[in-house]
Amino acid sequence: MKIAVTENNKIVLRSTPDIKLDGRTGAIVKVLGCGLCGSDIVKFREKIVPDGTVLGHEIVAQIVDINSDTSFKCGDKIITSHHIPCGECRYCLNGNVSMCEHFKKTNIRPGGFSEYVYVSEEHLENVAYLIPENLTEIEASFYEPLGCCVRAVKRANLKEGSTVLVVGLGSIGILMAQALRAFKMKVIGCDLIDERVDLLKSFGIDAVNGKSLPDNLESDAVFMTSGADKALDTALKAVRNGGTILVFSSTPLNSGYPNNEIYYRELTVLGSYSPSPADLKDSLELLSSGRVNVKGISTKYDLEDIQKAFDDTVSNKIMKAYIEINN
Ligand SMILES: [Zn+2]
Ligand SMILES: [Zn+2]
Repeated sequence: MKIAVTENNKIVLRSTPDIKLDGRTGAIVKVLGCGLCGSDIVKFREKIVPDGTVLGHEIVAQIVDINSDTSFKCGDKIITSHHIPCGECRYCLNGNVSMCEHFKKTNIRPGGFSEYVYVSEEHLENVAYLIPENLTEIEASFYEPLGCCVRAVKRANLKEGSTVLVVGLGSIGILMAQALRAFKMKVIGCDLIDERVDLLKSFGIDAVNGKSLPDNLESDAVFMTSGADKALDTALKAVRNGGTILVFSSTPLNSGYPNNEIYYRELTVLGSYSPSPADLKDSLELLSSGRVNVKGISTKYDLEDIQKAFDDTVSNKIMKAYIEINN
């Protein structure tokens, strides 16, 4: 089977023997497509993963072999996420499921940018679902990234009707703004790229170019889906005293928030990372009910063009890549 691996600062295609169940429980799935996540790009560019890694985790797939106690069967088209919390450790018991050791260890193997993937029984039981009939494969591929946004909204724990500024309207910003709206927040988005501002507006949410953001926004919360240095200034200006800044992106320089602003202004700054099974379930509901619209966000690439997909995403030529595999 074909896999796309990291190798000498490139993503290259390689052949590897087909994976089999070999007596294991779980399923072998044929990957129909896989979204390219911002975290894949960070892992690749900053060499967080060794050469030979198969990236990709936002898969849409079809079961081709299965040995499972679940109701899934061969031929089923499914979505699944990649990590599962143990539910028993100190992290899980305190709601920090994405810090759980088991969560970090579990994965789909070898990775989403592969013709076939092994999905364990635990995945099938906890985080896999049939693709709802009203969703296309590309729409369904937003199951995991939207789950991350749902988690962020829940973690911020805002009152209904709170005003929230979303800084950065890449694919995650667009999802985040809609997730916030679904949880009854008053949302405004900003970005420096006009097409992204217009896309959010087309989904019925206020948005402005970051250059013309009003000075006295006094937002109850600011959600940071951009890690640019300037975005930090924007957040500190836009958040009201006593408000919340939710951090949802890494910053290349690892620059921080100024201590004294947090102290004197009684700000809450918190991070949010990866979704729990409950967040994922909510995500699927938001997608299938149409409360979150993902039309026009993705650009399709063949597996052969995966390097271009990475490059075009990094250069902001596109918002998000969806790698079509086995089509
Ligand atoms: Zn992702
Ligand atoms: Zn745990």
